[in-house]
Amino acid sequence: MGWSSCVLVRKPGEKPILFDTLGFNERYALLTRLRELGVAPEEIGTVLLSHFHFDHAVNYPLFPNATFYLHEEEVRHIEENGRKDLAVPVEMFPALRDSGRLELLSGESGTVEGLNWLHTPGHTPGLYSILAEYQGEKWAIVSDTVKNIQELCSGDVSMTWDDAKSRESIDKIKQWADIVVPGHDRLLRVTRMGQNVEITPVNESVLDIFVPWLDEKFTLKL
Ligand SMILES: [Zn+2]
Repeated sequence: MGWSSCVLVRKPGEKPILFDTLGFNERYALLTRLRELGVAPEEIGTVLLSHFHFDHAVNYPLFPNATFYLHEEEVRHIEENGRKDLAVPVEMFPALRDSGRLELLSGESGTVEGLNWLHTPGHTPGLYSILAEYQGEKWAIVSDTVKNIQELCSGDVSMTWDDAKSRESIDKIKQWADIVVPGHDRLLRVTRMGQNVEITPVNESVLDIFVPWLDEKFTLKL
C-alpha cells in the first residue's frame, strides 16, 4: 500500500541524514515525526535515495538544503525503463537531475558522509543499502532489497527487476546483519546458529495516520 520505511541518522555535531523519503501519502507523517524529533526539514544535509520508486523517493523536494544520492545504475534504469517499471515516478526525475544537488554513487560499495553503502541490486538495478555498526550490533538499512520478513526468510521476492540478483543481495544481507530495517516491515533480528538462520521481528509495526484538516492522529498496530 506504499507504506514504507524511512530512517533518520544523527551523529553529534553533524547535519542529520535521511535514508529514503516515503511516499506522498506519508508526507504529513514524515514532517510531523521529524518535528517531534526536533529536526527541521531545512536542517537535513543529506538524503540517501535507495532507489527511485514512488513510495521511497518522491518527497525529496521537502528538503531544500540537502544533497541527494542515487546510484548511477538507478539513473540508467530510470532513463531506460522508467516507463516500463510502473513504480518509477519518471516525471519527477528531471527536476532532481537538474537541481544541481544530485550526486551519483558508482561501483559496489563506498562511503557517504561517513556511512557505508552497499550496492544491493535486484528489486531495481541501482538499489543500495546502508551498513552501520550501532550500539555493538550490525545494522543493515536495506529499503526494498528486503521488503518484509518473508523475503528475508525465504529469499523469494515479489516485484523484482532481476530475481537472481535479488536473492544474491538478500543473501549478503542475511550473512552480515544482526538487525535488518526492511522496506515495508518491522525491524528484523537475524540470529545465526550453525547452519541455521532465525529471523524474528524486533518490534511491532505501528502506523500513524494523519488527517491534515483534523487535529488528530490515528494509530494502527499491524
Ligand atoms: Zn521499490
